[in-house]
Amino acid sequence: MTGSGGAAGGGCLVEVSSIGIRTDLAGVRRVAAETGLHIVQGTGFYLEGALPSSVAELPAGDLAAVMIAEIEEGIDDTGIRAGIIGEVGTMSLTDTEVKILRASARAQLATGAVISLHAHPNFRLGERIVGILTEEGVPVDRIIVGHMDENLVAFGPGLAHIDYHRKLASLGVWLQYDTFGAECYYDSTGLREPLDAERAYAVAAIASEGHLGQLLLGMDVWPDRRAGHAAPGRADRRGHQDHAGRQPAPGTSAVRFVTWPGPR
Ligand SMILES: [Zn+2]
Repeated sequence: MTGSGGAAGGGCLVEVSSIGIRTDLAGVRRVAAETGLHIVQGTGFYLEGALPSSVAELPAGDLAAVMIAEIEEGIDDTGIRAGIIGEVGTMSLTDTEVKILRASARAQLATGAVISLHAHPNFRLGERIVGILTEEGVPVDRIIVGHMDENLVAFGPGLAHIDYHRKLASLGVWLQYDTFGAECYYDSTGLREPLDAERAYAVAAIASEGHLGQLLLGMDVWPDRRAGHAAPGRADRRGHQDHAGRQPAPGTSAVRFVTWPGPR
């Protein structure tokens, strides 16, 4: 993956497999060494269901301390210092998710590191999430709202939720369209990923409305190792946790980085 990413002109990869989903930090270091790519490793806490149960019990200050230590001192004994807080998982904004957001804010203020959010598909709670972070004092230009493109369409045609994007853009945060290449639907939920053409239309619309400088693009990859469908050499969404996922057209991603061990 990283070989093709580098060949395409990429020099840096942001690896936001955070606590709960990261599994192979030695592998991250090895990839960086072998490819020459600069890899930014994330800290922070992923979706509640992927976290140790102890996280629900710990106070925000303790969670912040974990992140600050991983940024300033390093992650366990790997010698790797985290460079970004994320991805920070949110779905319906449970009490634990809110606590993690407040802890992430404290870690941001202590270190200056950017917060990158996994804002789960079909929740569209970005304004409340950003409100929690800014209430804690985080500057808006230190906040990345991820998976915007997964909060763009309904099952039918059209950009059903483009106004949600406009509202977030007006707040001044970074909007990240990071699942380019994923064109599929999920039988279990009735949701679908947008087509890349829809992603492009949304990016163009938000940019043309004065927010070009707030846009980030990416190619998140989350194949399910259990399915074993990921084809060598390219990102392949057929291996998504939802086994009913379909990919009608070949992916266009140039980057493949398999980190996902379980439910997304
Ligand atoms: Zn995510």
